[in-house]
Amino acid sequence: MLKMFVRFFRKKRMKTLVLRPQGTHYNLKEIYHRINAEYFDNSLDLGITWQGNRNCRPRRSIRLGSYHPHKQMIKIHRILDRPDVPDYFVASIVYHEMLHHVLPPLHFVNRRRRVHHRAFLEKEKEFKEYQLAQEFGVLLKKQIFNTNKLVFNRRKEKISTFKN
Ligand SMILES: [Zn+2]
Repeated sequence: MLKMFVRFFRKKRMKTLVLRPQGTHYNLKEIYHRINAEYFDNSLDLGITWQGNRNCRPRRSIRLGSYHPHKQMIKIHRILDRPDVPDYFVASIVYHEMLHHVLPPLHFVNRRRRVHHRAFLEKEKEFKEYQLAQEFGVLLKKQIFNTNKLVFNRRKEKISTFKN
């Protein structure tokens, strides 16, 4: 019984660790290596993968990227693996997630946790196409949700039609 359980657990664990950085239009590994060299002196050693469905039609919100500190892994949503999404926008999301590794959340005495704290936001602006990426982000929201009622999220890599 124990043996079976261990085998099952191993199998499951291996499955969750499969990385798929090669997309239809973008290779995340290539983007990651470029940013690692340009902004982090090649000092980071993180996994990166596409996740989700490229043709999904989210109704209210979608998380474009996430960083998982325990696995040291970045996940980028496949909705960005399209020719009409510029390279610099995908790169800006990858850069943002890499920053989460370099600048982890801050914990304050009142027990509040800040993920996108001031140091993080300042570093984020060092991305060369920061302004362009911000502007494309607005267009993308309109395109995905087909509405003008758009709100910026606290979690910057998530876009939605509501505030949270
Ligand atoms: Zn973030």
